[in-house]
Amino acid sequence: MADLASSCKDKLAYFRIKELKDILHQLGLPKQGKKQDLIDRVLALLSDEQGQRHHGWGRKNSFTKEAVAKIVDDIYRKMQIQSAPDLATRSHTGSDLFRPKDEVNDSFQPQPVTKVRCICDSKLLNDNMIQCEDDRCHVWQHMSCVLVPDKPTEGVGPEVPPHFYCELCRLSRADPFWVTTGNPLPPLKFMSSGVANDGTSVLQTVEKTFQLSRADRETVQRSEYDLQVWCILMNDKVQFRMQWPQYAELEVNGFAVRVVTRPGSQLLGINGRDDGPLITTCSREGTNKICLRRVDNRTFCFGVRVAKRRSVPQVLNLVPKEAEGESFEDALTRVRRCLGGGDTAENADSDSDLEVVTESVTVNLRCPNSGSRMKTAGRFKPCIHMGCFDLDTFVELNQRSRKWQCPICLKNYSLENLMIDPYFNRITSL
Ligand SMILES: [Zn+2]
Ligand SMILES: [Zn+2]
Ligand SMILES: [Zn+2]
Ligand SMILES: [Zn+2]
Repeated sequence: MADLASSCKDKLAYFRIKELKDILHQLGLPKQGKKQDLIDRVLALLSDEQGQRHHGWGRKNSFTKEAVAKIVDDIYRKMQIQSAPDLATRSHTGSDLFRPKDEVNDSFQPQPVTKVRCICDSKLLNDNMIQCEDDRCHVWQHMSCVLVPDKPTEGVGPEVPPHFYCELCRLSRADPFWVTTGNPLPPLKFMSSGVANDGTSVLQTVEKTFQLSRADRETVQRSEYDLQVWCILMNDKVQFRMQWPQYAELEVNGFAVRVVTRPGSQLLGINGRDDGPLITTCSREGTNKICLRRVDNRTFCFGVRVAKRRSVPQVLNLVPKEAEGESFEDALTRVRRCLGGGDTAENADSDSDLEVVTESVTVNLRCPNSGSRMKTAGRFKPCIHMGCFDLDTFVELNQRSRKWQCPICLKNYSLENLMIDPYFNRITSL
């Protein structure tokens, strides 16, 4: 039995919150808590003594230890397939990943192959880590650093978002017309350091320096590059956008730089977007000094990056080509589902289906943005409505608005969710 528990424990060490919740869901156990709580909850089922101590979950549960071990194992296998590059670098098969207990000393704790990069600047692992979902990033961060409760004064802990992205991946999704090529001032947490006795916010200042080499200076002066200061609100409900604090004042090497055009007291609305000021002209080779002031108690993160511009055609190019995206058959199924005309196979070629479609076509062939007929029909993958918009017009508009918001349902997305709708595209090309 001890073997079962210890091999599960080793595997659980590799799991993200997502996998742990998946297991707890399968076991019918509560899914809330910190990462270590979730692990303990699973382990409790595998150990006799602990089973009773852990709030009795182990007893109420009807799963045998073997059944629990199998669920853990299945998810572990699935993970290996999905994130092969992460785990495969350690070994080629799952089985020799974990050496038998007698070959290692007792203090051996398998550590996941991890890249830790956190806004606290510490690279140490602790028991409560969260991983960025971006496929090219996958960094781990300290939950206590990056998850900020909405109402800290009420003692309500932060929510673990279903899709977690680190601040740099949020930044790159906020505006795909910029590509980060360097971070002279890496992401820095700007926390609330105080509230006056009467409960009002006080002015807070953070001063930092960052280095620019001669090569950096030459790069940022090229026309397609710039040096940019960015800032995001850690627990922003709109995940992919910049946001500056209230009464933000920025100084770079003694030059005042305007960060937002709205009045200092005005909060950014759900449909608003802030931008990152370009500071190439006030930067210099060597040491640069940056100073940010604000009167705002929320937790922000800011940094300075070297960014390269993407043109409209380059951004359009990031949207999968029609042939690489959704298949026509899948699109058809989706449209049928939207129309509520459930049954498909039978009506596939029937006139009734076509009639229903024809009805909505008159409305939807006009792009809600341009008002004219769509050339290429675009949509956001997660949207459940039929309506589309003209892809080129949409991308062009977003070069300025940076909203990446569906013009039909107004939900906020990012470029990676944008696709060509093969169904509407076929109709528009008729
Ligand atoms: Zn941290
Ligand atoms: Zn996800
Ligand atoms: Zn990331
Ligand atoms: Zn939508």
